[in-house]
Amino acid sequence: MAVPPVLTFLNPVLMRKSQPVTRFDGALKTLAEDMLATMYQEGGIGLAAVQVGQLKRLIVVDIREGEGEEEAERRSPAVYVNPRIVESDGAIVTEEGCLSVVEFTAEVKRAEHVVMEYKTLKGETRRENMSGLKAVCVQHEIDHTHGRLFIDRLPPIKRQMVKKKLAKLARTA
Ligand SMILES: [Zn+2]
Repeated sequence: MAVPPVLTFLNPVLMRKSQPVTRFDGALKTLAEDMLATMYQEGGIGLAAVQVGQLKRLIVVDIREGEGEEEAERRSPAVYVNPRIVESDGAIVTEEGCLSVVEFTAEVKRAEHVVMEYKTLKGETRRENMSGLKAVCVQHEIDHTHGRLFIDRLPPIKRQMVKKKLAKLARTA
């Protein structure tokens, strides 16, 4: 199993739109497994394929709710292929971060409840109702598949400030 590195802010690939998955083969399964390995290694709760340089509409999520047990025992990985939100309701503001935007978090407003349609690794169509943190997480990851980062959802003036600061940080890193 490979643990591909995460692309970070200023990498132009992150701004590109991912393509729908059409082949549900072993390579897709391997990519999902590699993405999960990266997500766990980096301590994230979600990852989109574009973040490891693959322009495919594929996301992995594990919000690992609960406390008191070993992190590894609480894992419940989910893989969603060609995910899209078909219904959304309510509003929730949470502090978001991103493995591709290091050392920066910001409050972002999103739908509190969503119904997501997606395909499994075998190509079967499914729907899932989600609320709260999981709903926020899949909205964040689906944004990645459209070439958007969470900072793109900030008010314009704040967004410009943040992008300048992050660009400076990236250059001096
Ligand atoms: Zn992200």
